[in-house]
Amino acid sequence: MIVMKFGGTSVGVPESFAVAVRLVREARPRDPVVVVSALSGVTNLIVDLCRLPERRADLAQRLVDRHLEWSRATGVRSREADDMLQDWRAETAALAGRAEPPAAGDRDRLLSFGERLAAALFAAALREAGVDAVAMRAGDAGLVTDERFGAAHPLPEAPRRIAEALAHRPAVPVVTGFLGQTTDGRITTLGRGGSDYSAALLGAALGAEEIQIWTDTSGLLSADPRIVPEARPVPLLSFAEASELAYFGARVLHPKTLLPAMERAIPVRVLNTARPDDPGSLVTPAAGPADSAWRVKSIACKKGITAVTVASTRMLLAYGFLARVFEVFGRHHVVVDLVTTSEVSISVTVDDAARLDEAVAELEAIGTVEVRRGLAVVAVVGEGAPRRVGLAGHVFTLLGGVAIPVEMISQGASRVNLSFVVAEEDADRAVRLLHRGLGLDLDAAELPPAPSAARA
Ligand code: ADP
Ligand code: ASP
Ligand code: MG
Repeated sequence: MIVMKFGGTSVGVPESFAVAVRLVREARPRDPVVVVSALSGVTNLIVDLCRLPERRADLAQRLVDRHLEWSRATGVRSREADDMLQDWRAETAALAGRAEPPAAGDRDRLLSFGERLAAALFAAALREAGVDAVAMRAGDAGLVTDERFGAAHPLPEAPRRIAEALAHRPAVPVVTGFLGQTTDGRITTLGRGGSDYSAALLGAALGAEEIQIWTDTSGLLSADPRIVPEARPVPLLSFAEASELAYFGARVLHPKTLLPAMERAIPVRVLNTARPDDPGSLVTPAAGPADSAWRVKSIACKKGITAVTVASTRMLLAYGFLARVFEVFGRHHVVVDLVTTSEVSISVTVDDAARLDEAVAELEAIGTVEVRRGLAVVAVVGEGAPRRVGLAGHVFTLLGGVAIPVEMISQGASRVNLSFVVAEEDADRAVRLLHRGLGLDLDAAELPPAPSAARA
């Protein structure tokens, strides 16, 4: 069997939606399980509705209009979706007069309308196309999670439950991405962009032969196309390469997507619904062959990063200093990305600074703490990149040549990623510069010889 996941940009655009339905119909012999996201824009709209009490009525109506317009454009109607829109009207009307924003379980239930509507509409379209299909909530498909609303984790028994729930598939299941369910039946969400993760969880639990992520780019590209319009698809990546890219900002894959696939060694394909014949990217356990001795595969970039430096001439060389620093971060659930140390200080980067203030207050007892916000991590990714002869020199010479200051450098800890920190406002320029400077805009045939080969 295969898992076919269609993102919001695929289901939300009528032309792409029609292609998606055809692709599932054609994949019938491969026994597909479909995973869908909300129509593009819908999750953002519900996030805003929760956040902005004064705009609730307007945003609630906009969700209804978005789906009605979509139905007019695609010609797809569904009784199930109509009933859901009725429930949506009732739930959002009940919020009127409530000043506090819906949170936790209430918020996740409102968010779930996006994916539930999309699944109902996709299943209806499949049936109209002659394919027996049924919309399913992730919870009914066995995806049980803990109660961390907004960022839920699947429970250890989720794979078994998924395998049981989907053991017999007389009709093609169209499962809601992004959602889970607590063991007592409350809807949870897995974090923004989480439908990719849902697809991987289902694929791993069912032992899929392949997990397909259908989106609006022809694969995982050599950079974010919004930053580098000439970015090209990377044909072959290892799990490690794709994980690093996803983690460091390549939004096309949710950062957790590769974990379940890796555990079961299931290949992941990233494909373009608008150009279904393009080969896309294939992510497999093994490293893809490099098309040149020195070209890296892709450059990712994550903004909104905070750096924390703890300096202590007294303590650093003392036993347990680093352990104390990390114990504080750990206790405050602060996730640390990059780490660099000097003789008298340690610097780390933090992506989600929500709980940082409390951690900083405690760190001040250990040393002098400096917090710098508004930074970005740029990650240059390719198997062997950190140890490649000449690569680091080349990267930092390019950046130095246009006076982009580099704050922190991390190489070597991972075998696939050379990463560094710059000011947020320099990040796009750095990515564009490196994309060109490292030859990612060239065909393999146009590449110059590797620096090491040139020296030999
Ligand atoms: P979907 O609706 O299919 O889940 P997303 O918007 O979540 O789509 O992800 C696709 C988008 O990710 C692309 O349109 C692109 O703007 C962005 N993106 C960022 N980095 C990359 C990359 N390296 N390769 C492809 N897309 C990327
Ligand atoms: N609809 C959800 C979001 O926008 C999940 C996803 O698209 O993967 O975050
Ligand atoms: Mg996505």
